[in-house]
Amino acid sequence: MELDEDPAIEPDPLATRRMPYLDYLLYEALPMDKIEARLLAHHAKSFVVIEGELYRRSHTRILQHYIPIEQGKQLLSDIHGGVCGLHVAPRTLVGNMFRQGFYWPTAVADAEQIVRTCEGC
Ligand SMILES: [Zn+2]
Repeated sequence: MELDEDPAIEPDPLATRRMPYLDYLLYEALPMDKIEARLLAHHAKSFVVIEGELYRRSHTRILQHYIPIEQGKQLLSDIHGGVCGLHVAPRTLVGNMFRQGFYWPTAVADAEQIVRTCEGC
């Protein structure tokens, strides 16, 4: 599955969640706050940068592309009620996304929101 950046999508307000990991993994830059720095360095062990893109290593060792939240929501909407029209439960929906190699931190909450507000369910 290929994902293209959609220029019509507004900048991801939570994109800043990815930046500290990229700054640390690419330039070893850490926040000034020691606790934040320690947490970031610990969590960064799950991430890797490939060709400038951030990937998360899942517990099953699958590399998941850390995509912007808005792109993730669009993917969930397309798969849940779009052409495929699967109308599956949130956990199944998110499991499919993660197995396809996509990750974003609000995926579970986003899937629950989509299913809760779906007129077809
Ligand atoms: Zn539905």
